Amino acid sequence: MKRRSVRIYEVAPRDGLQNEPEVLDLDDKLALIEALARTGLTDLEVTSFVRPSWVPQLADSDHLVARLPRVPGLRYWALVPNMRGLERAIEAGVGAISTVVSASDTHNRKNLNRTRAETLAAQAEVIRLARDEGLAVRSYVSTALGCPYEGEVPVSTVVDVALRLRDFGAGEIALGDTTGMGHPRSVRALVAALVDAGIPLERLALHLHDTRGTALANALAGFEAGVRSFDGAVAGVGGCPYAEGAAGNLASEDLVYMFEAMGEPTGVDLDRLAAAGHLLEDLLGRPLPGRYHRWAAASTCEAGESCIA
Ligand code: MG
Repeated sequence: MKRRSVRIYEVAPRDGLQNEPEVLDLDDKLALIEALARTGLTDLEVTSFVRPSWVPQLADSDHLVARLPRVPGLRYWALVPNMRGLERAIEAGVGAISTVVSASDTHNRKNLNRTRAETLAAQAEVIRLARDEGLAVRSYVSTALGCPYEGEVPVSTVVDVALRLRDFGAGEIALGDTTGMGHPRSVRALVAALVDAGIPLERLALHLHDTRGTALANALAGFEAGVRSFDGAVAGVGGCPYAEGAAGNLASEDLVYMFEAMGEPTGVDLDRLAAAGHLLEDLLGRPLPGRYHRWAAASTCEAGESCIA
């Protein structure tokens, strides 16, 4: 396996497709996963064991997990919203799960239909059982850098939620900039506060959204603060649910391009990743917002020609 200094956690099949209007059929999802699985990625979040009527895009999770290609060095993850979801995930043979809670109570109630306290209480049980069953656990903290309803979210609130999740047994805390309100200084301040509170850098990940165009700058700020794990969705699939047509998930190939150009290996084959982005555009039948994969498709110009400002 290639040496890597940055880990890219790919979320397109779950977080990406969940936030797009189309419902891909099972074979198309497996084609996407197959393409992503061949890029050198180590972590791929493929589905969610949510109640099928809630998220029709991911209603086939049991069938999908049964048909995942086995690839050495690649771990598949599935989101579980509750104990029933965990039971289904275990039954399906998933080895790694993620959970989600919002730092802001209003977002948690709108998104999960429960108070933040209720969600955390339920996750205590889910995470403990998952750990007892030998599963890896990562916990997303949504709205970690801003809430669409409450605006700024105090750093101390995010720290409190993250410490609870750590105490429940979550191996990794993924900080979600759900609204794309984060900026490089707020990312740096949040990471520093979490480290000060006792959560080591190697247990932190950044899940950044490009809603306002700051995602790559935020990733760099996180990297310079010591974070080495970044979430991405190939081709930037997964728009912003609060603003139609706006960007959401940061494109994984843009992350890979930036870090590789900086001399920080990701272990991911950029050409293959861009090709997976093109495949996904074909499957959805429309262009997607990531930058690098579009550049790769269009970069037929001769050096010195037509790419000059
Ligand atoms: Mg996302």
